[in-house]
Amino acid sequence: MKKKNFKGISTVTLHTASTENNNFSHTTPIYATSTFTFDSTDEGMERFKGEDKTRIYTRWGNPTFTAAQDVIAALEAFGLKNEKGEQLELKALLHSSGQAAMSTLFFSTLSAGDTLLSHYSLYGGTQELMQKLLLEAGIKCILIDVRDATLLEKTIKENANIKLIHLETPANPTLQCVDIEAICKTAHAHGIRVSVDNTVATPYLQQPFALGADFVFHSATKFLNGHGSALHGVLLGKDLEFMKTKVWKWHVLLGGNSNAFDAYLLIQGMKTLEIRMDRHCSNTQKVAQFLDQHPSIEKVNFTGLSSHPDHAIASKQMKQHAPLISFELKGGIEAGKKFIDALEVCTRAVSLGTVDTLVSHPATMTHYGIPKEERIKYGITDGLIRMSVGIENYEDLEADLTQALAKI
Ligand SMILES: *Cc1c(COP(=O)(O)O)cnc(C)c1O
Repeated sequence: MKKKNFKGISTVTLHTASTENNNFSHTTPIYATSTFTFDSTDEGMERFKGEDKTRIYTRWGNPTFTAAQDVIAALEAFGLKNEKGEQLELKALLHSSGQAAMSTLFFSTLSAGDTLLSHYSLYGGTQELMQKLLLEAGIKCILIDVRDATLLEKTIKENANIKLIHLETPANPTLQCVDIEAICKTAHAHGIRVSVDNTVATPYLQQPFALGADFVFHSATKFLNGHGSALHGVLLGKDLEFMKTKVWKWHVLLGGNSNAFDAYLLIQGMKTLEIRMDRHCSNTQKVAQFLDQHPSIEKVNFTGLSSHPDHAIASKQMKQHAPLISFELKGGIEAGKKFIDALEVCTRAVSLGTVDTLVSHPATMTHYGIPKEERIKYGITDGLIRMSVGIENYEDLEADLTQALAKI
């Protein structure tokens, strides 16, 4: 990794990934290999003994993974200093999906008998993993409104076994935001570690390590890749020793490693992160304002609107408002279905963070596995529509929304 003091994040995403190779390739080579050769038994022994375990067997690491990891670590640490005033160093581990990275996070920080505390508005897969599978492994999970500081303090005091607080901010799809800095302070005062799912904001808009987080998680499938071409997950930590020992062990033995081709796609996708995000963000602000004043719309959830309950904290901890919105039509679920079916430019699909606009219906898609009463309590009503605003020319998006809204 070239250790340079870059002034902007596009330079980081363009010039951090190693392109070292013997054949003068301009882009990072795809090391499509399961294993790596040794010239002698002594050399093999040296590689096993050494700290760099990336040239042994691909489940343990691979140069294409290292290149992608270096870019994400440089993004999350961009401009940040450690306690000694030096450039903050982070360790990133690339996984086959967000869920694989999250499994490594939970299993390396929690054991049977421990409790995990989280905010109640979460990505559906995260919530199911916490409430169903972790419970089977003897790990209890408590979901509260962590924005309520008194309730947070009370819950921590009443549950001595809380070892990790996991935050997702902004949350997918309700866009609820929580105060990372305030929660980290409370958690650390009780010796509890904090992880932050930074998928929706990306390190360009929000850097949780600057606010006290111990771990950052990404479904890199979304804005980091940006083109919807592969699944990836990343887990980052600032306790380098812990990352290289316990976390690495769980990562390697659970076997949720990425593959070289997907890692290459991620490296290529991240090169345009900054310019994509600027366009995603400006389009989203315009779409949200357009929908907010439209007579057929009941409610728009977007942190960039002053009506959003978490507008203040979102404005404080993000550079711009994350480009994801959800909204409800006045006609409820039936109007919602007609609207989605009438779209001609926006793509009907789950997932988010791709260059084109994606529209989905959380109640029947991403949050189908969450019981209805619970889902509604968390803000995912039957008629809620989620929109990940792409980088199309805004005029085409407005024209598509106008014609689809006219058909409900
Ligand atoms: C998609 C997503 C995940 C899960 O990631 P995968 O890459 O699908 O495994 C976790 N958290 C958030 C906020 C997501 O949007």
